[in-house]
Amino acid sequence: MLRNLSTLVLPLVLLGLAIFLYPKAEALAVAQLPLIQLLPVIIAVITLSLCFKFNRSLLFFSTLAVVIIYAVMQWYLPLAAIVEAKIVWLALTVLLPLNMMIISLLKERGMLTWWGGSRFALLFLPLLICMIMAKYFPELLRPLLGWNFLDLAFLKHSVFSQLALLMMILALLILNGRWFVQATAQNSAILIALLAAIAMLYFKSRYTAMAVFASAAMLMLVIAVIQETWSMAYIDQLTGLPGRRALEEELLKLGGNYSIAMLDIDHFKKFNDTYGHDVGDQVLKMVASRVRQAVSGGKAFRYGGEEFTIVYPGKSSNEVKENLDFVRICVGESDFRLRNKDRRQRKARKSSDKIVQVTISIGVANRTEKLVVPHDVIKAADKALYKAKKMGRNKVCS
Ligand code: GH3
Ligand code: MG
Ligand code: MG
Repeated sequence: MLRNLSTLVLPLVLLGLAIFLYPKAEALAVAQLPLIQLLPVIIAVITLSLCFKFNRSLLFFSTLAVVIIYAVMQWYLPLAAIVEAKIVWLALTVLLPLNMMIISLLKERGMLTWWGGSRFALLFLPLLICMIMAKYFPELLRPLLGWNFLDLAFLKHSVFSQLALLMMILALLILNGRWFVQATAQNSAILIALLAAIAMLYFKSRYTAMAVFASAAMLMLVIAVIQETWSMAYIDQLTGLPGRRALEEELLKLGGNYSIAMLDIDHFKKFNDTYGHDVGDQVLKMVASRVRQAVSGGKAFRYGGEEFTIVYPGKSSNEVKENLDFVRICVGESDFRLRNKDRRQRKARKSSDKIVQVTISIGVANRTEKLVVPHDVIKAADKALYKAKKMGRNKVCS
C-alpha cells in the first residue's frame, strides 16, 4: 500500500508547488507573462513527442485533452464576445472531465491508427461544435450547460455548474478507481493532473494562475512518460520484477562482501508442454511474486526465461542460505491456482480452476579471493545450481 501511495507523491508535490507559486507568479511583471503563458504548451509539445516515440497513448491523449482546453482558455476566450466566452467556458468545464474520463476508460493503443484518429475526433469535434454553437446559437447551449438539477443552497455560489461538478466527480472517481487497481506512475499522474486542470478551469480569467496550474499538470504528465519509459527498460513486463538491465546495474554497485543466488524452475519445459505456454506464463508470474515476497535482505531480478537472480549485498552464502531455503519452500509449497479461461465457467464455480505446484532449485555463491567480479560469482552460482539439479532438484546448493 505504501508503495502504491508513493506514486502519488511527485504529482502531489507539483500540485502543492502550483498552489504555493501562483500568487507569486501573478505578482510578476507583465513582461514575463507571455513566457509563463507559453510554458504549458512547451511542456506539452515535449510530452506529446515523448508519448509518440514510446507509444504511450493514454498519456498522449490526456496531455492533448488538457492542453487544448488550456489554449482555448488562454488565447480564444479573451477575444470572444462576453456571452460567447461564458458559454464556451461552461462547455470546457464539462468537456475536460468528460474527455479525461473517456480516455482513462480506453485501452492503450496506437495513435496514428483508426483508433487514434477517433480519439482525436473525440477531443476536437465536441469542442468545435460547442464553440460554433456558442457563437451562432448561444441560447440553445446555455440552458443545457448551466443546468442546475439540484436545489441545494451550498451549490448556489459554486463557480462550476452542477453538470460540470457532476462530470468532475465522476471523472475523479473513475480515475481514482483506475489508480486503485493499478497504482502506476501514469495513473497517478493522470489523476492528480485532473485536479490541476480543474484548478486551471477555476481561474477562468486569471491568465497567469491558469498557466501555473496547466504547467503543473503538464509537468506531472511528462514526468509520468519518463517514469513509464524507465520502467519499460528496467522492469520485466511479465513478472513485474526488475529485469536483466537492472541486474547489470546492481552488479556495478556491488563491493566488499556479497552473494548471488541463481534460481531455476524445475522441469518447466515439461510444465509448458503439459499445460501450454500461456499457463506457463501465469505460473512464472506467480512464482516471481512468491520469490519477491519471500526474499529478505536481498533483491530479486528476473534473469531471463524461467530463471531468477537474488543479489544479497554485504552477506556471505552461509548467511543467506536460510533465506534461500525459505524462498524454495515458499514456492514449492504454494498452490498456484490456474484461472479457467472460460468466463462463464469461472463465474459458475471456483472449483473449475486447476491447482498446480512447481519447485525451484537454487545455487548460491559469494565473493571470494578468486571470484572478484560479480560475473564470476554468477558463474559459480550457476555451477551450484547445476549441482542442485543433479541432486534431484528442489534444493539449495552452494
Ligand atoms: P530443469 O529442471 O532442468 O530446469 O528443466 P527445465 O525444463 O526447466 O529446463 P530448460 O532450461 O531446458 O527449459 C526451460 C523452459 O522454460 C523452456 C521454456 O519452455 C520455458 N520458458 C522459458 N521462458 C519462458 C517464459 O517466459 N514463459 C513460459 N511459459 N515458458 C518459458
Ligand atoms: Mg533454465
Ligand atoms: Mg528450469
